[in-house]
Amino acid sequence: MEGAPGFIRVSRGSEFTLGLKRGFASVKPTVAYLLTHHPQGCFANCAFCTQARSSVSHADMLSRVIWPLHPLQAVVRGLRRAEAEGAVKRICIQTLNYPGMFADVLSLLSVFRKAVEMPVSLSCQPLEEEEIRLLKEAGLDRLVFPLDAATEEVFERVKGKGVGNPFTRSGCLTALEKAVEIFGRGKVGSYLMVGLGETEREAVAAVQELKDLEVFTSLFAFTPIPGTGLENQPKPSLVSYRKIQLAHFLIERELARFEDMTFTEKNNLAGFGLSYDTLKDIVASGLPFQTRGCAGCNRPYYNEDPKGPFYNYPRSLTAAEVSEIAAALKPYLNGELRG
Ligand code: SF4
Repeated sequence: MEGAPGFIRVSRGSEFTLGLKRGFASVKPTVAYLLTHHPQGCFANCAFCTQARSSVSHADMLSRVIWPLHPLQAVVRGLRRAEAEGAVKRICIQTLNYPGMFADVLSLLSVFRKAVEMPVSLSCQPLEEEEIRLLKEAGLDRLVFPLDAATEEVFERVKGKGVGNPFTRSGCLTALEKAVEIFGRGKVGSYLMVGLGETEREAVAAVQELKDLEVFTSLFAFTPIPGTGLENQPKPSLVSYRKIQLAHFLIERELARFEDMTFTEKNNLAGFGLSYDTLKDIVASGLPFQTRGCAGCNRPYYNEDPKGPFYNYPRSLTAAEVSEIAAALKPYLNGELRG
């Protein structure tokens, strides 16, 4: 493990799965979620992030999940055991921004590729073309550059120059395009955070924009965390999030496009461009409301308290959960409501 970081953060749920801590998770993570560590934390300053430079949140937190620090050797032992038992299907490396981050990622990839066979995903800041190529050559399976913001205005305000970051939305999109060229279709993803002040129309348009770049999108519900720049901003309304989840599912599955959907004067989703019967069956499957991302990723409780309400379900939905969602969405599926 020469050159690799000695320690790495492991999400609380993954600690249990990797045998690093005794405990019980009501929904087990299907991926080993890891986070790089730097003693000074993250050098960037995104307004929603617990790891941001100016955040005074707990240093062990990312979103609402705790990520304790573990020796890399113990994590590798846990990964070997979890793979043998079939407990996890993928490794996910998430990174902070700090000098030396890329070297850390390459050395971690090398360690993991030698130790286990499961695929590795990486979620990090947008990288240069040469770096993307090096990751591909090193055996990375999937690459995610989080866009997070539906619009330029939101981006500038929460993760661009408004918070002293060097990132731009167009720069992120360019890096995603480059990554698709190098990694191929279906292997590059991004995140969209709902509830940062964008309209429903803007959120759905951003999903389509990413889809047209052949980038898959994972939706997140903005979650206010004490100590971050957006600690006082409310979460998005559940029904609004459900509408965007359904639109996202239809776009990702190529069942409808943004241009097929209709919106109110206030830019709220009013129609999905498909018949009521078709939409009813899709909602009844529960699939649009489950966590989406790299194959096998369920990210339990990133956005929600384990007691609910669930913005993204980390498992199949129960019949009662599907009925509740179908009732909430019904007016939007048959066009009764225009709000
Ligand atoms: S979608 Fe899931 S596995 Fe893929 S990078 Fe994001 S958290 Fe990791």
